Amino acid sequence: MRNFFSYDGDREAEASMAGRRIRMQGTVQGVGFRPWVYRVARAAHVTGRVRNDSAGVTIEAFGPAVVLNAFVERLARDAGRPAAAVVDGIDAEPIAFEQAPGFSIVPSAAAADPRVSIPPDLATCGECLAEMEDAADRRHGYPFTNCTNCGPRFTIVHSAPYDRPATTMASFTMCPACRREYDSVADRRFHAQPNACPACGPRLELRDADGRRIPDVDPIAEAGRALRAGLIVALKGIGGFQLACDATSDAAVCRLRERKHRDEKPFAVMVSGLDGARSLASLTEQEEHLLMSPERPIVLAARRDDADLALAIAPRNPLLGLLIANSPLHHLLLAASGGPLVMTSGNLSDEPICRDNDEALSRLRGVADRFVLHDRDIVTRCDDSVARVIAGKPVVLRRARGYVPRPIGVAIPFERPVLACGAQLKNTFCVGRGSEAVLGPHIGDLDSAAVYRDYEAAIDRLTQFLDVRPEIVAHDLHPDYLSTRYALARGAAVTIGVQHHHAHVASVMAEHGLSGPVLGLAYDGTGYGTDGAAWGSELLLADAAAFTRLATFRPLPLPGGDTAIRQPWRLVLALVDDAFRGEGPIDGFRLFRHFAPTDIDVVGRMIRQRFNSPPAHGLGRYFDAFGALLLDRPFASYEGQVALELNLAADPAEHGRYEFELDQTARPWQVDLRPAVRSVVFEHLGGEPACRISARIHNTIAAATIEVVRVAARETGRLPVALSGGCFQNARLTESIVRGLEPEFTVHRHARVPPGDGGIALGQAVVAAAQARRL
Ligand SMILES: [Zn+2]
Ligand SMILES: [Zn+2]
Repeated sequence: MRNFFSYDGDREAEASMAGRRIRMQGTVQGVGFRPWVYRVARAAHVTGRVRNDSAGVTIEAFGPAVVLNAFVERLARDAGRPAAAVVDGIDAEPIAFEQAPGFSIVPSAAAADPRVSIPPDLATCGECLAEMEDAADRRHGYPFTNCTNCGPRFTIVHSAPYDRPATTMASFTMCPACRREYDSVADRRFHAQPNACPACGPRLELRDADGRRIPDVDPIAEAGRALRAGLIVALKGIGGFQLACDATSDAAVCRLRERKHRDEKPFAVMVSGLDGARSLASLTEQEEHLLMSPERPIVLAARRDDADLALAIAPRNPLLGLLIANSPLHHLLLAASGGPLVMTSGNLSDEPICRDNDEALSRLRGVADRFVLHDRDIVTRCDDSVARVIAGKPVVLRRARGYVPRPIGVAIPFERPVLACGAQLKNTFCVGRGSEAVLGPHIGDLDSAAVYRDYEAAIDRLTQFLDVRPEIVAHDLHPDYLSTRYALARGAAVTIGVQHHHAHVASVMAEHGLSGPVLGLAYDGTGYGTDGAAWGSELLLADAAAFTRLATFRPLPLPGGDTAIRQPWRLVLALVDDAFRGEGPIDGFRLFRHFAPTDIDVVGRMIRQRFNSPPAHGLGRYFDAFGALLLDRPFASYEGQVALELNLAADPAEHGRYEFELDQTARPWQVDLRPAVRSVVFEHLGGEPACRISARIHNTIAAATIEVVRVAARETGRLPVALSGGCFQNARLTESIVRGLEPEFTVHRHARVPPGDGGIALGQAVVAAAQARRL
């Protein structure tokens, strides 16, 4: 946190009356910040006022200098601040003393910039939960309870500034009791825009599988009964519809998979609190903290062996995606159903999540047995976020509800507004203006027309919220990415293509306020290179504007192109062929019991003739190949599945590694894993367990990485190292690399922005802005 106290306390007599103007920046609006300042001021006997303005919150405080100093210190300390507030900076300057009648919250300055940030959606707070559970409270069992510390925000706003008339709560007129809370400075609901109660707020209704209204029932109790009976319930969550079923019932979970057309991708499980979470996963303190944070992401943690859960939730995966209820409706539904619930986005695979009632009733027909609807509309889709603690630090892997649209401060302000269009897969986009970058919510894979339409609409909405007309538009170099085509079609004043791995590295630089140069390790599946070839795992010497490609991995041919990603057995052939060429044939049948010799023949010929076999430099493909070989998994049901299984199989106690070579005569240098591949094949054929081989593969890649960084640093000097790319979702690999590098280098990793392609839009924005400055 920046902390500039610009006044000089010694010059003032301690007892004399004084004034301070205190400015606080960060996420301080729409999170109950001013009422907290008000309470602190009243307790400290300070007079004056607090208001929201374009910079955040400004406080003018009056009283004895010594009291004011203590007041500023109290504001600067974290203690007691609203949980969702994030203070990035605080400064105080002396102003003339003024005789104020007391301390008050005043309306935003008339000239205030309307572009103040819209807060993210916040999980239900403890006080609201207590009211919902209190039979004597007027909000007992009310599924739309919220206050300034919690409730929907970003997903219900039509336009800035964030104010009730600009939200989908505008159609609900507050009853006198709610109005009193809303108007009362001392109340927890002072200016809580979505404030509501059973008398005046939104209501639930229940529909059957055919969309017919089920009258005269308590929708929660009835939905709870349906869930207990193994039915699938669609419910309108915060950022869109969700599908829920009993997480302990294999029959229910399998039915959901079948109806949703989802093969083996893990489902997340929702529980109501930490006790429930602890019974399902072995959690570290950091993981518990992440689970309970106001963002309430899905947290990937180690599933307990004795967890009472359906096996079909995450086949062959020792990790469990867990989340704690983030809305009152979730809490009530969990209480009514009595157990953990599978909670997954309300869509068919590859479609956007359903947002309004009619859409859900038609698109989820045949999937859900019951629909829990309500009349508070959702403006912006926002999926659940996903996070994980990796090598001792929390990392956001999918950035959506709870995090969006919280801005990220950048080192060099954007001179002109920038729109960065992101990647093709796991797309997010990014808007840069002034000193901050705002990432939009996770959109998903742009392949489907419906997702693409959602992408365009989400860009329009966020640029409107921020009142930004982008002058610079950034995109990936890949000509076939729909995000690239979208960028080119916008016809902006300046359109800039940013190399994929450079964007990755710039993204992690931006998160840490670095302008470079750094040694950037972008370990990715694939990304379009400046030479038109597919790059993969790269070491770049980079700053915000430019980069040099220092090193890469020896490429592996992808027989059949992207087909090889779903059929990693093809990659095994490529791996083995490359490693053993000229050393006598390796018996393909011993490696592939499943395949007819003709299949192996055909793919073998493709590899040798380099027919439809583009070279891939990505470590992801190496992991796919090793995984397919060692785990006997010829097919993957989703991209990276086999690689992930191999990562998770690695024995933590194994410290051995294999040989590798670093070819420094090549430009860029090449890390050559063929010696390791040969050892892996022989050990595998000799019956060595996959968990040990997997660990040694990880250790080998980490050792090769550390070696190549050291060699590079001899030429560049000891620069900071920045880690980015989807491979850094691999906890084992990240831990080994970080442990190896940290004694010699400062290592920067992602935290609030995904390491995978969901994070590159931020890097694109920063790079494009830096390049535009040179135009
Ligand atoms: Zn609350
Ligand atoms: Zn009311």
